[in-house]
Amino acid sequence: MKTQVAIIGAGPSGLLLGQLLHKAGIDNVIIERQSPDYVLGRIRAGVLEQGMVDLLREAGVGQRMDREGLVHDGFELAFDGRLERIDLRTLTGGKTVMVYGQTEVTRDLMEARAASGAPCFYEASEVELHELKGENPHVTFLHQGQRMRLDCQQIAGCDGFHGVSRKSIPAGVLSEFERVYPFGWLGVLADTPPVNDELIYANHERGFALCSMRSPTRTRYYVQVGAEEKVEDWSDERFWDELKRRLPEQTAAKLVTGPSIEKSIAPLRSFVVEPMQYGHLFLVGDAAHIVPPTGAKGLNLAASDVSTLYRILLKVHQEGRNDLLEKYSSICLRRIWKAERFSWWMTSMLHRFPDTDAFSQRMQQTELDYYVGSEAGRRTIAENYVGLPYEAVE
Ligand SMILES: Cc1cc2nc3c(=O)[nH]c(=O)nc-3n(C[C@H](O)[C@H](O)[C@H](O)COP(=O)(O)OP(=O)(O)OC[C@H]3O[C@@H](n4cnc5c(N)ncnc54)[C@H](O)[C@@H]3O)c2cc1C
Repeated sequence: MKTQVAIIGAGPSGLLLGQLLHKAGIDNVIIERQSPDYVLGRIRAGVLEQGMVDLLREAGVGQRMDREGLVHDGFELAFDGRLERIDLRTLTGGKTVMVYGQTEVTRDLMEARAASGAPCFYEASEVELHELKGENPHVTFLHQGQRMRLDCQQIAGCDGFHGVSRKSIPAGVLSEFERVYPFGWLGVLADTPPVNDELIYANHERGFALCSMRSPTRTRYYVQVGAEEKVEDWSDERFWDELKRRLPEQTAAKLVTGPSIEKSIAPLRSFVVEPMQYGHLFLVGDAAHIVPPTGAKGLNLAASDVSTLYRILLKVHQEGRNDLLEKYSSICLRRIWKAERFSWWMTSMLHRFPDTDAFSQRMQQTELDYYVGSEAGRRTIAENYVGLPYEAVE
């Protein structure tokens, strides 16, 4: 089998890149380890930056998002018993975010892929990348008992943190930068009305909490828990109790509780590899970087990588501009490091660390007080939250 671009992974990065390339007439094949249902069953991100919203529209998959997504003009920071609003629209000259679940983005992209007729091999095993620096880059895999070989010109490694693409790069090529946080987020999805129209990020002496939503009738709430905690130890009742204790009184009083329809613990990590290219292989999204979810940046960073790679591949395949390929990594990394910084800062400012004593707690509260009390501070938070601009490829 032959194609122009082989895409490893059918998460949001792989499917979005595939859709954009297909629309532009660039042949591509997607290879995914899991089944479509498994991919759709993962409950993850929910806040889309303006840049990602625009990219989904450009890919022709924005119709349902525009109908069902919730445009948010701001969010709230809760600390020291106060609720302070960050007015995104006013502070950024009109920019907003869209609340629309990653599951829904993936579903829309899967449907577009199926409608396009472009190939996507689900439940592929033994995926291996070959000749990444050679004349004949190709991918081999096992699909329904059949051994397959896919020859291509470029390989997009969109296979997440645990994928095969990054691991296919020889030892010593990549520099890794990592911070693992000593806590996780316990998340609950429930069919209850949101406690607030906008997201609430709460700093509390018992630990961080987040009130988020997926729709006017479906909520996603989180509380910070110790890294060693087990989800089985958290009954719904214990979760709702803990959440209420971490919210300002007037918010806790309004909270509507109900049975959880999903409950899981996610570890928090910051991670970046440099460079994001090795020969014909380009790492995209979680394959190259992870952020703690505090700044709502993981999925959005994946989208900005896709945008950059797509625009470079367009020029490569339509105008023969192979010189642009080596710019991919540096263009992406400039934006990635800024999002890493924001996510790390939000995490540091809002969570309780094992060494958070009374002094550090006051420092966190004072930092929040300082930022929300200054127009420059609120603007800094707002412009990072809505997403920094995408860099042009030349
Ligand atoms: C529990 C959790 C909660 C999160 N919450 C948020 C949030 O609130 N906000 C936010 O912005 N971000 C969040 N994120 C991050 C966000 O979900 C990711 O940044 C996003 O999914 C990245 O998309 P991706 O396509 O690059 O990778 P993935 O979504 O990981 O997709 C990679 C795909 O590659 C496939 N794959 C893996 N190995 C192979 C292989 N060997 N061969 C073929 N295919 C393979 C996988 O099955 C998967 O389908 C969360 C992540 C997790 C894990």
